[in-house]
Amino acid sequence: MVDVLVIGGGNAALCAALMAREAGASVLLLESAPKEWRGGNSAHTRNIRSMHAGPEDVMSEAYPEEEYWQDVVKVTGGITDEKLARLTIRASANCRDWMQKHGVRFQPPLSGTLNLSRTNAFFMGGGKALVNAYYRSAEKLGVKIRYNATVTALDIQNGQFLAAYIDNERIEAKACVLAAGGFESNREWLKEAWGINEHGEAPADNFLIRGTRYNKGVLLKQLIGMGADSVSDATQAHMVAVDARAPLYDGGICTRVDCVSFGIVVNKNAQRFSDEGEDFWPKRYAFWGRLVAQQPGQIGYSIIDSKVLGRFMPPVFPGDKADTLEELANKLGLNPEALMRTVREYNSACRVGKFDHTIMDDCHTEGLQPAKTHWALPIDQGPFYGYILRPGVTFTYLGLKTSDKAEVHFGGKPSDNLFVAGEMMAGNVLGKGYAAGIGMAIGTAFGRIAGTQAAQFALAQQDQKHAAA
Ligand SMILES: Cc1cc2nc3c(=O)[nH]c(=O)nc-3n(C[C@H](O)[C@H](O)[C@H](O)COP(=O)(O)OP(=O)(O)OC[C@H]3O[C@@H](n4cnc5c(N)ncnc54)[C@H](O)[C@@H]3O)c2cc1C
Repeated sequence: MVDVLVIGGGNAALCAALMAREAGASVLLLESAPKEWRGGNSAHTRNIRSMHAGPEDVMSEAYPEEEYWQDVVKVTGGITDEKLARLTIRASANCRDWMQKHGVRFQPPLSGTLNLSRTNAFFMGGGKALVNAYYRSAEKLGVKIRYNATVTALDIQNGQFLAAYIDNERIEAKACVLAAGGFESNREWLKEAWGINEHGEAPADNFLIRGTRYNKGVLLKQLIGMGADSVSDATQAHMVAVDARAPLYDGGICTRVDCVSFGIVVNKNAQRFSDEGEDFWPKRYAFWGRLVAQQPGQIGYSIIDSKVLGRFMPPVFPGDKADTLEELANKLGLNPEALMRTVREYNSACRVGKFDHTIMDDCHTEGLQPAKTHWALPIDQGPFYGYILRPGVTFTYLGLKTSDKAEVHFGGKPSDNLFVAGEMMAGNVLGKGYAAGIGMAIGTAFGRIAGTQAAQFALAQQDQKHAAA
């Protein structure tokens, strides 16, 4: 029987597998995807949010624990477990050496990204290179890896893990780490969670999934059904406004539309519905998918003028372009009069000070609902550009309740040998909202803890057996 079974094949699973193996346990990792699609959402990532006391390798200045924590409080509105959030933050300060030991390489951020040079360490080659490095290292250390290995059920008795099933095949292990992602790729579950809105629409029908198609939440659902303690709710998720032309799965980062804070966003009635300049984009981008999801038809339109071109990372698909707003409205399928009225009202409410997108500047609107509180410049210089937006689900937050030892809990009682990491428990730290790079910080911190704990339990079982023999 294997010591530690790791279910999942992304960052959290690989961190767990590597730590368990380094601790001396035999490890089997089951990845649902075929080899060429391995790595889950982690393969789409670019960076990890990292606490640091001063300039360090690719990190500039300092990003102390307290500032990181305040960022978490702000984006979650306080819906977070402080102990687990601080654990994640502290772990982010000392994981980079270990990551590098397993082949991950870092690079300074490229310009035009999310202004994250102070707070986030970027992976050279992105998340794809990171997971490839971890797989290489895991294989070298003797971790057994199976692809096309979707775990369909678990055998758990009295909170103890006994075995996992791949259809009829039973795989026993002394301990298990669950790192199988959220349920973002399960469109039926998303539909059930979001229900029907006041317009009689099923909003989830219009969601696009930014990452892997393999995170269906099968085990999450089963565990919650078995009485495992859960956190957050099924509608909470990291949701980005993506280009409406993005594919249903795996569109990745290049379908994100990053010009929101440079202009205005309207719904299909050509009306604004939120403050486009509320905070820096890295702290706001993950709200916009949800905001668009709450609009009729789950559609939005990001409108900018020529002044701001070159100030944001251009999306992979070019936007609609027109010399006049009327023409742009026609191209986007919006009522021209309604759009022109909205832009007129917005333009006349703009109080332009000293525009500076790197600070929370003093360009704002007055007497407008909703206000635009920063970076408010009139939209008046053609040609004009428009991007049609849809909600893009990155990952869901409904997860398993855990503690600083990463155990799955049943009725408040921690399991001895069942642990959880990554998206499957990220909701402990992220009740809602998001700060760029924290997904990988949570997965790395808890993946490493879960792997260590699982190995410790499994190896202690061996010791007991030897002592008894
Ligand atoms: C486009 C995009 C960009 C992102 N960029 C960033 C970023 O720059 N920084 C950041 O911090 N976060 C980013 N995120 C979020 C980040 O990807 C996640 O927080 C993180 O990767 C979660 O890691 P994980 O290991 O829990 O899940 P995943 O990496 O998704 O891994 C889950 C794994 O479980 C497997 N699996 C699922 N079900 C089963 C099953 N039943 N049996 C066996 N295996 C199963 C899947 O195939 C997959 O390998 C991004 C996400 C996306 C989609």
